[in-house]
Amino acid sequence: MVYIKMQPIYKIMSDRKTLTSSFNNNTTLDEVNLEVEKWAQRKVEELKTLKTLEDYRKDYVGNVSHELKTPIFSIQGYLHTLLEGGIYDENINIKYLKKALSNTERLQTIVDDLEMIAKLDSEANSIEISSFDVIKTIKRAVGDLEGFAVENEIDLILKYDLTEKLLVLGDESKIRQAIYNLLVNSIKYGKPKGRTIIQISTIDDIILIEFSDNGVGIEEKHLKHIFDRFYRVEPSRSRAIGGSGLGLSIVKHIIEAHNQNINVRSTFGEGSTFGFTLKKA
Ligand code: ADP
Repeated sequence: MVYIKMQPIYKIMSDRKTLTSSFNNNTTLDEVNLEVEKWAQRKVEELKTLKTLEDYRKDYVGNVSHELKTPIFSIQGYLHTLLEGGIYDENINIKYLKKALSNTERLQTIVDDLEMIAKLDSEANSIEISSFDVIKTIKRAVGDLEGFAVENEIDLILKYDLTEKLLVLGDESKIRQAIYNLLVNSIKYGKPKGRTIIQISTIDDIILIEFSDNGVGIEEKHLKHIFDRFYRVEPSRSRAIGGSGLGLSIVKHIIEAHNQNINVRSTFGEGSTFGFTLKKA
């Protein structure tokens, strides 16, 4: 009788339609008790995880809307001023239109980064690994950033025998994105007449790619947070230079999806070195 009454409960606990073999006519009440306790513990853990995810989702949505609001308010402000007569004032009309445009560009950056994060989240296991020449990838990223580096008076120096190939295993487009983000940061947070050195070293079948700038550096207390989504050391400075606060979290996501490591060393006022590993092909 007890056995028959317990059957449906056991089915629920095991999340299965059929009964587990551990439950039969000979199961004692002590064993049943133990199973129920284990099941309750599992449910407590599941609820904790769901609560953490829910808190994270709320924070994330809050952060996203906050990020979007700032440029939207700016654009509205400029357009209102122009509509209220500013359009005829030659001292401000072009200037305000340019500012409005640059805020739409900020919106674009934020949306692009959010898209990239969403893609990485949904494709967590779909990194497409192939063998590629990482020197070529670095050179492409450096080439794409040449203009930006010149504007900011930063030299990008690749220390490697450029006649040699270096084949690694990874998702080329994603690794290029990671390299690009690290280079962009080294330029954005560099000092004029500065430089970023890209260095490569090999340890057995692992290569380490490092990006060393002599820019503003990062204080110790911020270091453990800078890979978090939306974390910025100086929010107003980062926004002013077009940052979304997502660049490093994207890099970390990409490198970890490759089961590799990323690290940072920095001295405030002197510069930072970001490095990540990759497997040789
Ligand atoms: P952001 O869009 O703000 O640049 P990131 O995620 O790329 O966002 O970087 C997070 C924060 O880490 C930045 O706001 C900046 O304060 C700091 N940071 C990143 N790279 C560097 C660097 N090379 N030198 C100094 N600070 C950096």
